[in-house]
Parts: sequence; structure tokens; C-alpha cells
Amino acid sequence: MKLDTTYARLFLILSGIVFLSASCATQVPNDEKVVDPGYERLIFGNIEPLQIEQLEKSDDYWKDKLTPNQFYILRQEGTERPGTGKYNKFEGEGIFVCAACDMPLYHADHKYNSGCGWPSFYRPLAPGLIEYRVDNSLWMKRIEVVCMRCKGHQGHIFEDGPRPTGLRYCINSEAMRYVPVDSAAAYLESWDINPE
Ligand SMILES: [Zn+2]
Repeated sequence: MKLDTTYARLFLILSGIVFLSASCATQVPNDEKVVDPGYERLIFGNIEPLQIEQLEKSDDYWKDKLTPNQFYILRQEGTERPGTGKYNKFEGEGIFVCAACDMPLYHADHKYNSGCGWPSFYRPLAPGLIEYRVDNSLWMKRIEVVCMRCKGHQGHIFEDGPRPTGLRYCINSEAMRYVPVDSAAAYLESWDINPE
């Protein structure tokens, strides 16, 4: 009888902890998760980051513009299954832009085959295009990579990339759109973004 009560108490305490940690995890506003892990200083040295004007749109706007899968990844922090993305083994020259707001984010020159199942880059195209956020979901401590302009979820960054940065920007194919090399220069010019 007494043992039962002890177990019951223990159960209540444990479920309380689980409930509290779950609700804490969902209640942290996104802007409070923003961090500066120092990666861009490592990559770009003292080059001033670009000042990007924010694009704030409603969920309805994004549902209308994006496919359901793109919405799941870009707006709900989803992840495509490894090895399934259209850019995973893609080797075209050019640039990759945000699939939601179209801002240039990565250059094909910095793409490499990491074997992890997702398109991987060892750096972004220029400083200031990416926002970094702490992500404690799935019982892991990771750094989430987000488009600076529309805050669309791109993927995560890991410190197991190749030289010269040692970084791996692990990005969902669905979060990007490819712009071939023939049109890349004009595209970048229209955004007033120079690759560094
Ligand atoms: Zn974007």
C-alpha cells in the first residue's frame, strides 16, 4: 500500500517534469532563440554583414505560395527524409535561393558531398543572410539555420564540415530553389548581393 503511494507520487512528479519541459520548449519565442555562434566571423572575418530587410507574412500567405511539403519544412521546422531531396546529389553550377522568399543564400561552389543525405554547404554565400537559433528539440542541442529575410527554416549547422571552415550547413532541398549559373549573376545583381 505504502509502496503504491510512493510510486504514485513518483509518477506524478515525473509527469510534471515532462509536462513542464515540454511546455517550456514550445513557449520560447523564436527571437529569444537567436544566437551568434561566431561562425560568420570565422568564415568572413571582419566583412560587415548585409543588413537584410525583414519579410513578415501570415501563415495563410505562405500556405498559398508554398507546396504543403515546403510549408512543413520552411514554416514548421520540418525535415525531409535523408537521401530523398532533389539537391542532395545535385552538382549544377550556380546559386541556391530561399524557396520561400527567393533571397540568395548559398553558392554551388561551396556545396560538397557530405554523405549525410542532405545537401551540404561549408558556408553561406555572404555574411548576414543566415540567422542562427538554438534548437533544443528532439532531446538534442543543435543550431538551427534560418533565412534572415523570411525566417524560413533551412536546416541545421554542424561542426564536422571540410576545410576551410570545418562547418556543415545541412539544408533541406525543399527549402531551396536552384538558379543556374547563366542567370546567377543577374539574379544576384537584382538583389544587390555580392558573393564574398
Ligand atoms: Zn527566405
